Amino acid sequence: MTTHQNEARCGICKAVLDQSLHADCGGDCLLCMAEAGDPGVALEVIKILKAQRNDLLTVMKQAKYNLMHQRRFGTESMTAWRNAAAYAEGDLEDAINKVEGRA
Ligand SMILES: [Zn+2]
Repeated sequence: MTTHQNEARCGICKAVLDQSLHADCGGDCLLCMAEAGDPGVALEVIKILKAQRNDLLTVMKQAKYNLMHQRRFGTESMTAWRNAAAYAEGDLEDAINKVEGRA
């Protein structure tokens, strides 16, 4: 687990300022500025959320396809099912890390 003791934090929500929804916007993060009603920042937040949504849907659709393919065409061995689950788990973990700014 990474600690963020020396990193700049949002003046409102105290999240570490990074390059995503918590990007530095004059000492506060984009998300807090949008929630405070800044219309320009709100549009930027909407763009980020749309991109994250598209990325997550792409990953979920691929994981669903891969699991369906295993169910319909894969072997019934435990190893085959374990591999299918491991691939899906890895893809979902990568997507979560990307949204949370760890990738
Ligand atoms: Zn904030």
